[in-house]
Amino acid sequence: MAVDLHLHTFFSDGSYSPHELVCSAKKAGISCISVTDHDTIDGLLECREAAINAGLGWISGLELTAEFHSHEVHVLGYGIRAAEFFLERLRQFQRARMQRICRIIERLNRLGVGLRLDQVLSCVKGPSPGRPHVAWALVREGFCSTYEEAFAKYLRSGGPCWVPRPRISFDEAVELIRGAGGVAVLAHPGLLCSERTVLALIERGVDGIECFHPKHSDAQADRYRRVATERGLLVTGGSDCHGKTQGSPTLGQVRIDHSYWNLLAERVIERGGEVIWPS
Ligand code: AMP
Ligand code: ZN
Ligand code: FE
Ligand code: FE
Repeated sequence: MAVDLHLHTFFSDGSYSPHELVCSAKKAGISCISVTDHDTIDGLLECREAAINAGLGWISGLELTAEFHSHEVHVLGYGIRAAEFFLERLRQFQRARMQRICRIIERLNRLGVGLRLDQVLSCVKGPSPGRPHVAWALVREGFCSTYEEAFAKYLRSGGPCWVPRPRISFDEAVELIRGAGGVAVLAHPGLLCSERTVLALIERGVDGIECFHPKHSDAQADRYRRVATERGLLVTGGSDCHGKTQGSPTLGQVRIDHSYWNLLAERVIERGGEVIWPS
């Protein structure tokens, strides 16, 4: 039995519907999943139902974007419960994302690219729009020929139409997740700027480390696993699949052993969260 604990749907910037996601998981031979959309838990109810109908194991999740010494850091939260303070904070992130989309479009328009907000929003299904939605719209409306070109020409960090997103601190992200009864995991540490930063973040207190990720080398996965074991932290991993988006890893490309699922599930239950076992 294989497990994928890092998945996105069209409730943030993935392309899969809950149904498509679950079908792909079944096809890939995955038996337990967690859906970890960016800054939203709106898709979880529907995904949970689809997972149950397909007999998949399920733990709720999300991926928060945070900041540490001006570097972008992602924190995964597992087994969170939808407390009102948590939902309100997510709504603030989502409003900030929407305002940012408007500012990106203003910049595009200033450069003579006549993309409109409604053209971007027509492909946004959830409350958490991001740069990928703008990139898809640029391609669909004929302003760019590929998704990659949209990023390279306009949207890449520091690019002509890039607008930084207000971010919460790493500490606040961890606290928010724990406050909502969740388990906080440092996402894809291999994408961070330096090993020193990785260790500094771990020392600040997380429950686990995402050791297995498509962008980690085998050596990195081994090293993070050792760091986690030495500190008694949970080990997680997944494909970070965004669906049929160009360049996205396929679901199940990174799959982890069931023993890691059992340990995460145990911790989620300890905190009062819900675990659905595969049937
Ligand atoms: P956002 O959260 O709106 O800043 O968008 C971040 C997402 O954009 C990432 O999760 C990637 O999927 C995508 N992305 C960021 N940079 C690039 C790039 N240079 N090329 C393609 N996709 C990118
Ligand atoms: Zn994403
Ligand atoms: Fe991420
Ligand atoms: Fe992700």
